Amino acid sequence: MITENLKQQYTDCVLPTYARFDAGFVRGEGATLYDESGRAYIDFASGIGVNSVGHAHPLWVKAVTEQAARLVHVSNLYYTQPGGALARRLCQLSGLEKVFFANSGAEANEGVIKCARKYSHDQYGQASGRSTILTLEGSFHGRTVTALSATGQDTFHQHFQPFTEGFRHVPAGDAAALERELARGDVCAVLIELVQGEGGVLPLDKEYVRTLARLCAERDVLLCADEVQTGIGRTGTWFAFQQYEITPDLVSFAKGVAGGLPMGGFLTGPKPSGTLTPGAHGSTFGGTPLCAAAALATLDIVEACLSDVPRKAQYIRDTLTNAAPKALTGIRGAGLMLGLSVSGTPRRYAERALEQGLAVLTAGKDAVRLLPPLTISDAELENGVEILIEVLNERSQPL
Ligand code: PLP
Repeated sequence: MITENLKQQYTDCVLPTYARFDAGFVRGEGATLYDESGRAYIDFASGIGVNSVGHAHPLWVKAVTEQAARLVHVSNLYYTQPGGALARRLCQLSGLEKVFFANSGAEANEGVIKCARKYSHDQYGQASGRSTILTLEGSFHGRTVTALSATGQDTFHQHFQPFTEGFRHVPAGDAAALERELARGDVCAVLIELVQGEGGVLPLDKEYVRTLARLCAERDVLLCADEVQTGIGRTGTWFAFQQYEITPDLVSFAKGVAGGLPMGGFLTGPKPSGTLTPGAHGSTFGGTPLCAAAALATLDIVEACLSDVPRKAQYIRDTLTNAAPKALTGIRGAGLMLGLSVSGTPRRYAERALEQGLAVLTAGKDAVRLLPPLTISDAELENGVEILIEVLNERSQPL
């Protein structure tokens, strides 16, 4: 699964910030990964939701290699064809007006936060005190200090104080609590994940989200959707907000957008589209022609398989429900972003699955998380679910 030499290099020289699984991969094709010994693994993890079009998709490889040979980077001081075409495409797909390109989910959310605060300052003046951003308990918005301040989970907060001021966390799904917080008059934005990913794959209630959107609109509080994990087809529509019949003012995206190359960003609706003027925000690597070309190819590939996402998701749900493996206590999520609640330790099931040739993730306290490539073939899907059932029928051992 992994050679001692490779593991030793990490042990000796890489900061131990990740609890890595015992596998070293050298190659991928479709939704199948190969380790150093040539052993195949079905990939239900997609590099934590990044490899949305699988590994080494021929159209993606062609677009990236051609662009790499032509122009990789020139900075945001100039125009590039892939950058313009991608911006146009993302605006069309989201129905929003403008885009800012960054490199990661945390950086995308940092931009959303800056944009929301500046909008409020422009409209009401800094003295108005309207700079607080409400986020939900259980949320995850990234690892930079401000994205951590936004994150509503104490486990990520330990040891890193002091945080950025101006965030309050409200219980997810509690409209009355939200209304009380908004009534304080200091709120400029509400930032939500429509399906909380790291928190446990927990979709927000539709009625609650619509109420939240109405309350925000009534007070000119910007509604911001963190679609870093849910966006770009993951939940079966281009963006999860499209299933909630709301239009956020700001939408962050990252993970799956460039099919594996680092890209993030945010989209703006009519209200904040004029907020960030020259010099107000930037990112050296944001929206390089290489990543933009990768993203354009990714969007083409996702477009071709998007309508099949609900069928694939239903296959996983039905097969698991019918097999009813011993440890499975529930299935939740949206599209191909699924959380299987399990009795026992999710990490232990993920380790056992890997030993059996299937990569899965965990989320929150009780869930095994599945984020397979949207392009996964039926055969890969069937093999993966079969392994999952086998593993969930084993008795879990605490770590
Ligand atoms: N927001 C959400 C909803 C996420 O799931 C993540 C990562 O898991 C992030 C933000 C942070 O993204 P990144 O790790 O690319 O900074």
